[in-house]
Amino acid sequence: MATNPFACGECHLVLGDGVDQCPRHPSAKVSSDWTGYVIIIQPERSEIAARLKVDQPGKYALKVNIR
Ligand SMILES: [Zn+2]
Repeated sequence: MATNPFACGECHLVLGDGVDQCPRHPSAKVSSDWTGYVIIIQPERSEIAARLKVDQPGKYALKVNIR
């Protein structure tokens, strides 16, 4: 079993230990199958944030594979 934390399939937010639901997208699918860990501090100044459509600081996965 993967020990990866879950990431939100909607906003790519990497969730905390034991958390299986995105606080911003309770109905979105989550997956532990993701790659590329990025920490976004200033979304308004970040190209990655723009690409991921992220508007809040946090830890994100670049790619989330939803089954
Ligand atoms: Zn989310």
